[in-house]
Amino acid sequence: ENAATLAVFDGNGTTADGHLVPLLANVGGAKDAVAAAALGAQGVGLFRTEFCFLERDTEPTVEEQTAAYKAVFDAFPGKKVVLRTLDAGADKPLPFLTDATEPNPALGVRGYRTDFTTPGVLERQLEAIALAAAGSEADVWVMAPMISTAAEAARFAQLCAAAGIKTPGVMVEVPSAALTAATVLAEVGFASLGTNDLTQYAMAADRQLGPLAELNTPWQPAVLRLVQLTVAGSAEEGSSKPVGVCGEAAADPALAVVLAGLGVSTLSMTARSLAAVGTVLKTVTLEQAQDLARLALSAPSATEARDWVRAKLPILEELG
Ligand code: PEP
Ligand code: MG
Repeated sequence: ENAATLAVFDGNGTTADGHLVPLLANVGGAKDAVAAAALGAQGVGLFRTEFCFLERDTEPTVEEQTAAYKAVFDAFPGKKVVLRTLDAGADKPLPFLTDATEPNPALGVRGYRTDFTTPGVLERQLEAIALAAAGSEADVWVMAPMISTAAEAARFAQLCAAAGIKTPGVMVEVPSAALTAATVLAEVGFASLGTNDLTQYAMAADRQLGPLAELNTPWQPAVLRLVQLTVAGSAEEGSSKPVGVCGEAAADPALAVVLAGLGVSTLSMTARSLAAVGTVLKTVTLEQAQDLARLALSAPSATEARDWVRAKLPILEELG
């Protein structure tokens, strides 16, 4: 499967009435980034930097990191690229950062938390990001995974500032961050909802366990409520800050419409889903998307939320 066999998304993500919702790609390195650009991504909404170093048992040097990041930035000159600092641990262990003997890795020292036990790695990564950004034409934004508190967001923003990075943000994928979005977002410039982990933690259901798949869907009204609270929190500080979605929820065209209706500003997904999401989004007005969001939030179950919304989007049948 490559760009040539997949539908290409052509244009800008927008509702029928012209409300813009840029459609971005999730990438793990330069190869993905080049493919995403060819498939019409308007930028990168999630660069999973840990994917560049999964096989490493030693920390990559600043030079190696700079080269890996610049290769992704160079696929999107003049476009937004949201880079995530190393999200090591749980489903993405990195031998040089994570402890394989933890009893509960999903609740353990993962993501931003590795800075508690291995200080210095994050600073060196930020140094490499700043160097790569300075040498590229991309509009580079930088966010930390697994932020749980406003204090963590503040410290991450400080580290970014010290490295000369002016666009710090956080992933909202821990329910505590969603529930305190106003104070978390007061510390940084933007947030991106990681609905994969947000669902796992809201539903207390390991995202990797097949038997829990019914629980583990972002159609759960509880998860949609956390999305709504995050967007509401971002508006509380007066100047509303961008809140995107970069979990796989954004790749489900019907759910993408609901997310737009909940007020998220960008949708980032696997590049092969861009064309379908763009096609469905432009069949509804913002007001209709908001109505569908209300409908989904009012559903008693994930199944009903999905069925009720899908029934109101006839275009889905044409897409198959
Ligand atoms: C998420 O948790 O939704 C996310 C986008 O990050 P990852 O899947 O890499 O944990
Ligand atoms: Mg995550």
